[in-house]
Amino acid sequence: MGMLYENTGINEKGHLTFAGVDTTELAKEYGTPLYVMDENMIRDNCRKAKNAIDSYYDGKGMCCYASKAFSSVGMCKIVSEEMLGIDVVSSGELYTALKGGFDPSRIVMHGNFKTKADIAYALESKVGRFVCDSVEELSIINDMAKGCGYTPRVLMRITPGVDAHTHDFIKTGCTDSKFGFTLEDGTALKAAGEVIRLENVKFAGVHCHIGSQIFDIEPFLEAARLMMKLLRDIKTMYGRELEELDIGGGFGIRYLESDDPLSYAVHLKAIALTIKELCVDYGLRQPFLMIEPGRSIVGAACTTLYTAGTVKHIEGVKSYAAVDGGMADNPRFALYGAPYTVLNASRMNDNADFTGTIAGRCCESGDIIQENVTIPYPKYGDIIAVLSTGAYNYSMASNYNRLARAATVMIKDGQARLFIKRESLEDITKNDLL
Ligand SMILES: *Cc1c(COP(=O)(O)O)cnc(C)c1O
Repeated sequence: MGMLYENTGINEKGHLTFAGVDTTELAKEYGTPLYVMDENMIRDNCRKAKNAIDSYYDGKGMCCYASKAFSSVGMCKIVSEEMLGIDVVSSGELYTALKGGFDPSRIVMHGNFKTKADIAYALESKVGRFVCDSVEELSIINDMAKGCGYTPRVLMRITPGVDAHTHDFIKTGCTDSKFGFTLEDGTALKAAGEVIRLENVKFAGVHCHIGSQIFDIEPFLEAARLMMKLLRDIKTMYGRELEELDIGGGFGIRYLESDDPLSYAVHLKAIALTIKELCVDYGLRQPFLMIEPGRSIVGAACTTLYTAGTVKHIEGVKSYAAVDGGMADNPRFALYGAPYTVLNASRMNDNADFTGTIAGRCCESGDIIQENVTIPYPKYGDIIAVLSTGAYNYSMASNYNRLARAATVMIKDGQARLFIKRESLEDITKNDLL
């Protein structure tokens, strides 16, 4: 039975501990479903990412947390204290980052369609950078930036045509993608000539993001090579040497015992070397390097706790064990069959004598947390834990079936505190009118 990370353990009662705390006690105190997060692990991941740039790229870069993975005011405060930058994609994510105390110059506004309201709010807030997918949008930002009191930096998002060997829905670097300027057919290079002419924004550099949950280093290196070639070609064609290169996020984490992710240090060492060598070959100055990890900052730093309901056994078919959450708090299995490790937190030392599907409580047959799970038999009222749920769970949560969004508890040095309140019935109806 895999426990995946060093912050999970078993105590003398045979209960699962997470970040040093008995998870069944947390379930009793805060109720379920409950997201339990480990602040020390989040901070440690932030530092490892930042240190990797400092060590292997001479500190000439910035690690931006992709806040879509998990955004809350408290989370933004933690990331801001760790001196990372932050990616936002909407006015909501921007508002949250500002409320968390983010220096706007360290905020990067992304998105394949920023509304005019988003752009206006970002300019008013003086965000440092925009990453854009089209000349049309860049022109709109350029027009709106006139007289806004500062010159925002802009980067072109490039689709480099790299296959990241991950799930189709989380793959973003292939040519057939809704994101970015296509590299392969020369669209990107041609568009750069138009971006250079914009007067109210500073054309700072180029960006790519090839996908998510990637375990290979080669797709990152291939993307870095293609982006360096583009920087060279832009210089050759237009005589303009851009200063910034953002190679996105996508670093994989461990969901199953068999997953074997590489550290930030290993990634950055190889990426930095590739870029530095090409700078020499192409006669370019070393660009300011940005990375944008989301999942790898926060994904492993959370466990979701559920209370087990009844088991349905279908002779000759399979068994279903119901839990009091599901796709409303974690839609990732329903979306793309995402793998997860499931444990019976109440009886960690018992025999794993149950094999079946862990199902949620929503009115959808596809509301499943995981299939083919083998754990100690989930008795009614047992606490069921799902590991590595920090990224794209709370941030993708919904109120389907009018379920209240679950609470989040943050643990720091063995002390738990409520981090996001559970929604109330009042919250669920607060926008309803008669
Ligand atoms: C989603 C996303 C990221 C973060 O991806 P992770 O896999 O969570 O690290 C970074 N940059 C962009 C542009 C993204 O869309």
